[in-house]
Amino acid sequence: MLSTIINLSYLVGALAFVIGLRRLSSPDTARRGNILAAIGMSIAIIATLFYPFSGAPNNYAWIIGGAIIGGIIGFVAAKRVQMTAMPQMVSIFNGLGGACAVALAIVELLHYYNGTADLSGGQFAVVLLTLFIGAVAFTGSILAYLKLDGKVWDSQVTLPGHTYVNIFLLLVTVGMCVYLFMQGPALGFGWAIALTVIALIYGFSFVAPIGGADMPVVISLLNSFTGLSAAAAGLIYGNQIMLVGGILVGASGTILTVLMCQAMNRSLFNVIIGGFGGGAKSSKGQDGDQVAKEVTVSDAGIQLFYSKSVIVVPGYGLAVAQAQKVCKEMDDLLEANGVDVKYAIHPVAGRMPGHMNVLLAEADVPYPKLIDLDDANAALPDTDIVIIVGANDVVNPAAIDDPGSPIYGMPVLEVWKAKNTIVLKRSMSPGYAGIQNPLFFNDNNRMLFGDAKDSLQKLVKAIKEN
Ligand code: NDP
Repeated sequence: MLSTIINLSYLVGALAFVIGLRRLSSPDTARRGNILAAIGMSIAIIATLFYPFSGAPNNYAWIIGGAIIGGIIGFVAAKRVQMTAMPQMVSIFNGLGGACAVALAIVELLHYYNGTADLSGGQFAVVLLTLFIGAVAFTGSILAYLKLDGKVWDSQVTLPGHTYVNIFLLLVTVGMCVYLFMQGPALGFGWAIALTVIALIYGFSFVAPIGGADMPVVISLLNSFTGLSAAAAGLIYGNQIMLVGGILVGASGTILTVLMCQAMNRSLFNVIIGGFGGGAKSSKGQDGDQVAKEVTVSDAGIQLFYSKSVIVVPGYGLAVAQAQKVCKEMDDLLEANGVDVKYAIHPVAGRMPGHMNVLLAEADVPYPKLIDLDDANAALPDTDIVIIVGANDVVNPAAIDDPGSPIYGMPVLEVWKAKNTIVLKRSMSPGYAGIQNPLFFNDNNRMLFGDAKDSLQKLVKAIKEN
């Protein structure tokens, strides 16, 4: 009876995960999807508390104590985190998932080697796999966090010939897994510890050469690793919900990794060997002989006030400046004046998938105002003014007309086809890809230098004065 109730609860939990995940695909339903998945997880956790373990009673003090402490830390961290620091938080939480998988595998191996539990050949292989993948996800995610947060730089953690170091470490780790498997319980627990240490070093070394700016892709990849290690742990314990949850995380992490690579027009291999992005800064308004023309706030305000159609292109700088609310204020003013305002959303604008959608939703921008890449490119030639707020790579024409550019082939918003463009950024510094943007020097483009929020506030004031 109890096991039937537990299995039914797991089924309900798994359904909630799947439906919740499905709802995350649209900003309209994402919030409810998230809540539904959280309810599914709560049902699964409560059901697991009643899971009958043979021989060892559930240790409720440890379980509930851990859940309360973990719950409080997670709640406070999620409440406090800035939108721009979201990838860092995902990275740390993901690393902790990997650490859990390592802890589970170590406990199983301890029992196995001291003879208090027996593992079949298949179970032993899965425990070793859990240990390996969990360890890589753990240290890899922690280094990803340190890089994203600017606490270490790529050059500080990369050795000469790092790719060879990584191949060597991978071979040693896999070789040790095979050796432990072949020897069975004859070896001591010390071997399991040695394997753990080497796998942890490999996780760190695997992420070390990857360019700091490529971290979101790597985090998504490590996320899929953690999912796989959780699924493997589900196999060890014969726990269906762990298996289903792990497979969902593993599959969605893998799909997301592939989609991000496609949207940047780069292969996963190219991301993993690293070295992309991070160009030099250039002086305000100038790049070599080329000079970008500037516009004053009052002129830009007049142009916007008398236009019929405006497309806003938000980018990473909008997130840095936290300019979404003042952007919406400008939108409201223009709409009240009969201007049609839309937002063109590039799939990799910002630093994480859906970054711009989340920010604009936070500012209550109605979802129908957001148009995707294809619809935006169709609408741009008939648009009076495109206002580019802290975006750079996603509006770079080099992606289309410069075969030598590192972003050549990446689909971009063809803003240069609009009648006029105004770029809001602080300087001529490049974006994530580290390359200059020829758009800035076009005849129909004007630069409005300054922090995006500050410039938009001034524009709002100028529009109100018309
Ligand atoms: P970019 O990184 O190309 O450019 C952002 C621009 O914002 C910079 O040139 C910077 O110029 C400007 N900026 C920064 N802070 C401010 C501020 N406070 N006020 C005004 N401007 C500011 O951003 P995009 O969104 O155009 O492109 C995203 C890039 O990130 C793409 O190359 C994409 O491939 C990559 N990427 C995206 C991922 C995703 O999932 N979304 C994942 C991994 C990578 P300045 O310093 O002069 O102000």
